[in-house]
Amino acid sequence: SASTPSTASTVAKGRTPPTLSSPTKVIFPDIKATKQDVWDYYTAVMGHLLPEIIGRPLSIIRCPSGTAKPCFFQKHHTAGLELVDSVRLKEDSGISAHYLVVRDAASLLELVQFNALEFHPWGSHAEAPDRADRVVFDLDPGPDVPFSEVKKAAVDIRKLLAQLELESFLRVSGGKGLHVVVPLNPGCDWDLTKRFAKGFADALAQSEPARFLATSTKSLRNKRIFVDYLRNGRGATAVASYSLRGRPGGPVAMPIAWSELAKLTRADAFTMKDVPAKLARRRKDPWADINTIQQNLARWAQDD
Ligand code: ATP
Ligand code: MN
Ligand code: MN
Repeated sequence: SASTPSTASTVAKGRTPPTLSSPTKVIFPDIKATKQDVWDYYTAVMGHLLPEIIGRPLSIIRCPSGTAKPCFFQKHHTAGLELVDSVRLKEDSGISAHYLVVRDAASLLELVQFNALEFHPWGSHAEAPDRADRVVFDLDPGPDVPFSEVKKAAVDIRKLLAQLELESFLRVSGGKGLHVVVPLNPGCDWDLTKRFAKGFADALAQSEPARFLATSTKSLRNKRIFVDYLRNGRGATAVASYSLRGRPGGPVAMPIAWSELAKLTRADAFTMKDVPAKLARRRKDPWADINTIQQNLARWAQDD
């Protein structure tokens, strides 16, 4: 999987990326994808991925022995990382910790060299960590929910958000569900953002209890969809668009247009093998307007 000339120059423009070690190490055994393949994937999608994570505190999932062996969720900056920024932020406990912040392609590739496979940014930026600029409704279907029901739920949520004059964007998680993402511009403090997200999920669960659930208890899900509003809080994360997932097939968290949803058959339909080519073919970025739309929660706050 070769990188396109344009993405190669994106890498070259910044600082020098690290050298890749163990390029032949198998990361996805089922598709025989190596660490080199992961590096090449991230190089190919770099121009799309970076805007989604630059400047945001970032958690990573590292799979040092591939996806068939244990992987680790890492929130904090660690020794040995030289290109990735370290930003000191206060945690819930009141104690500060050093967070990872990617600023360019070289720092992203340094994380890949450190066996990072998944990238999970905050819904705010490191320089304004208390101001949310993304609300994520993470639709988590119970084991007995057909994907068609998850799609229907996303469409209904989009309609309800539109009634609140909030435009939303769609992402296929690369796992089991869909993410409906609402940009906030100007941003909003986490307290109101959280109340909005919880209020929205609670209202859904109350009006259609057979379809929706607003509590995370897995045993209660069954045929219902958990509207996971807990992605919305200071320090909470959601997977970045274009991030790989450490699951069989090398799936990608993929932003899609609402018009693409009808023909979608599963949430892990896009993979590291086909996404670079799909991006090259794509005429329009379905999330092109996400950072320029002016909308916020002020209207909702008044109604509360
Ligand atoms: P799926 O569609 O399969 O649900 P998902 O990415 O939405 O995929 P979730 O299990 O719903 O997965 O998790 C939502 C988010 O919670 C993840 O994207 C991640 O950012 C965050 N998360 C995952 N694991 C941890 C962890 N160990 N600690 C903290 N946050 C985590
Ligand atoms: Mn989910
Ligand atoms: Mn979830």
